[in-house]
Amino acid sequence: MQALIRQLLAELGEDPTREGLVNTPKRVEKALKFLTSGYDANIDEVLNGALFTVDYNEMVIVKDVDFYSLCEHHLLPFFGKCHVAYIPTTKVIGLSKIPRLVDVFSRRLQVQERLTNQIANTICDTIQPMGVAVVMEATHLCMSMRGVEKQNSFAVTSAMLGTFRSDPRTRSEFLELIKLRAAVTSAREIGAPSSLACVSE
Ligand SMILES: [Zn+2]
Repeated sequence: MQALIRQLLAELGEDPTREGLVNTPKRVEKALKFLTSGYDANIDEVLNGALFTVDYNEMVIVKDVDFYSLCEHHLLPFFGKCHVAYIPTTKVIGLSKIPRLVDVFSRRLQVQERLTNQIANTICDTIQPMGVAVVMEATHLCMSMRGVEKQNSFAVTSAMLGTFRSDPRTRSEFLELIKLRAAVTSAREIGAPSSLACVSE
């Protein structure tokens, strides 16, 4: 990988042998490996020992989880906040594991819509709750740094499963609890699969 990065620097018109860049390939490789370390993570291991049986069926909510990911179209960062809620049937996930789960899927090449769905589906598959809701709000540097469609550089995506999809009151309660910056009234308006947060231009 370091040889490729050295070549990339040369292609950009730089001198890879100058002092400031001489160790850059090593640093970039290390950074990229960390930022894509989610591919190697085993979800079962991540959640292992953190599933608990409970007699509780109120909404569990974890909000304002910071996340950083890389857009697969430009290999540039998109980052923001992730909000997760679910209504348990018999099992809950240890609260500290929710941010860990967000990290696992964020540290891959992503599109915001797929990232949102993967987090929701994993929780759904793992504990079979009555419903799961995931909302992600993110700034896309591939949009804002390049100055294209600045108005779209901030994107909100959502995945609503089970009761969060079927019951508008449950969904509203969740959206009220996370106080979305964007005005969101229904699950349909956000997370429409036709409009990708980051356009592939
Ligand atoms: Zn992009």
